[in-house]
Amino acid sequence: MKWGNFWGLKIIKKTLKTIKQTLIQLLYPTGIKCIFCDDELPNEQKYSICQTCDGDSLKIDEFCHRCGRLQTNDARFCDTCTDYERNFDMARSAYVYEGGVTKAIHNFKYNSEKHLADNFANILSDLIKREELDFDLVTFVPLHKKRQSERGYNQSELLAKKTSEIFDISCRQLLKKTKHTKKLAKLSFQERKELLKDSFELSAEKHEIKGKRILLLDDVLTTATTIEECSKVLKKAKPESITVLTIASTKQEIILY
Ligand SMILES: [Zn+2]
Ligand SMILES: [Zn+2]
Repeated sequence: MKWGNFWGLKIIKKTLKTIKQTLIQLLYPTGIKCIFCDDELPNEQKYSICQTCDGDSLKIDEFCHRCGRLQTNDARFCDTCTDYERNFDMARSAYVYEGGVTKAIHNFKYNSEKHLADNFANILSDLIKREELDFDLVTFVPLHKKRQSERGYNQSELLAKKTSEIFDISCRQLLKKTKHTKKLAKLSFQERKELLKDSFELSAEKHEIKGKRILLLDDVLTTATTIEECSKVLKKAKPESITVLTIASTKQEIILY
């Protein structure tokens, strides 16, 4: 072997080693904190969640098989899903919307902590695999353009894009929000329902949705009013199924009437 080739090979090897170390540092950075409780992580932890939070009861492992809310009795469906038709086929969430989970989602949504999309997408992709959810097209709950320009980004879109990349399935905006509504967080179920009524429209051609298994992503499921409205509009284009995925859902039952 010529000396030139030998040194060339050495440089390539060294470069590859540097790239590998940089990737490890990127994937498992030191000095980072638990996304739920802010405690310093002693070493790399899955999703950047400390062992205490991971072992906590925030994870949803028993749930209503329709809306995905935490359910601790043996019934297949919660009372609401037993009594009322849903516009979506099923919904699943990874966590109960409480404590550290609420704080992390708030940071993701309002404090520009967009990097959390990676953690949440990894959490949701494991949930998809565990639940064997099938889908052909990923979409998200849109923001009104005024809200989006105030916030600068749509957290559900970031989540949908990251999740679709993991599965190499395309992500498309299929809906648009046509009514600018005030923040829903403090409104009652009835007020939300009134306000959100007919506030979404299709933004894609019907043939793009027809016969497809749609995965609809949002950050949180509280009263389910938003995803019910979005699913109602999507159904007009006759998809094969609509599965809703959120990072978290509230524990409590929401009384419909
Ligand atoms: Zn923690
Ligand atoms: Zn339910």
